Amino acid sequence: MHRSELTIDLGALRRNVGTLLRALGGAGVWAVVKADGYGHGTADVAGAALGAGASGLCVATIPEALALRLDYPQVRILVLGPAGGSREIAQAREAGLELAVADTEIPQGVRVHVKLETGMGRYGVSELPGRAREIVGLMSHLATADTDAPFAAQQIERFAALTDGFPGVERHIANSAAALRIPEARFDFARCGLALYGLSPFGDDPARDGLEPVLLWQSALAQVKLLQPGESTGYGRRFVVERPTWIGIVPVGYADGFRRDLTGTEVRVGGEPRRVVGTISMDSFAVELDGELPVGTPVVLVGHGVLMESHARVAGTITYELACGIESGPLRARRTVVDA
Ligand SMILES: *Cc1c(COP(=O)(O)O)cnc(C)c1O
Repeated sequence: MHRSELTIDLGALRRNVGTLLRALGGAGVWAVVKADGYGHGTADVAGAALGAGASGLCVATIPEALALRLDYPQVRILVLGPAGGSREIAQAREAGLELAVADTEIPQGVRVHVKLETGMGRYGVSELPGRAREIVGLMSHLATADTDAPFAAQQIERFAALTDGFPGVERHIANSAAALRIPEARFDFARCGLALYGLSPFGDDPARDGLEPVLLWQSALAQVKLLQPGESTGYGRRFVVERPTWIGIVPVGYADGFRRDLTGTEVRVGGEPRRVVGTISMDSFAVELDGELPVGTPVVLVGHGVLMESHARVAGTITYELACGIESGPLRARRTVVDA
């Protein structure tokens, strides 16, 4: 076993696309694969999502879209974030990208989706620009699809009213949370990120919404030792034992994306839930064991019942941030793609 082993299950991703399509009752899914596919690997997840029926891809930046264009010459790709000036707009035009535009000025010769401000208070225009043949979509983004249904309903109503009466122009407002639980948000398609990866936009067990986690993160015990009363593990001596205590050292740390604020969370060691103790280092952390275990005992950091949602709760953050932070490059991890 490699010290940081990531397994991406494209079968699970395809089933999640199926779950979203069923929840959307006829509306489409565009797969949001920005930030390296939320840490899962853009190119792989994009291919699987399209194979499972996604109609297009969304990314945040034009460089992300240009990289995808090499692998997917024919697919519609929408850039959600602002373009960085006229050079990027020219690149977008040449590559046949579509741009989300939060401005009344519409760039020429490139298909745009006008982003309307309906309550997110971020990018967006409050009034529609005049009709231009470049406009193929009208979109908005929900601020509270996962937390405040009445506010989301208000945004949806505002969006419906603003965009009524533009035949042939696609309308889209839903993210994963809305696709799963707010039927009024469907319109023509939903832009789904988190749920594709089998993570819950509600911070619950994803199984509640029929989602399967796509990522499995494993390691193995690199050292096992018995601490005597008064001894400690890790920087700052934050875990001092009162009685003889077996601990295991896992060779993964915050440089791999196992964040420093995950002390206290549970991973599985040899199949059993075990608590992370002491300060998490750059390249390792410790777990408390209930007895001696051999070096090499498998450790599951995420997956096989260890939920990213539980880690997020311990770290006081959201799964989005944890997933994006996992380091999958070859210098730190071995990444394997399977189709189970
Ligand atoms: C990232 C993003 C999404 C995807 O949101 P999820 O909650 O991950 O489904 C949708 N729309 C926009 C504009 C985004 O920036």
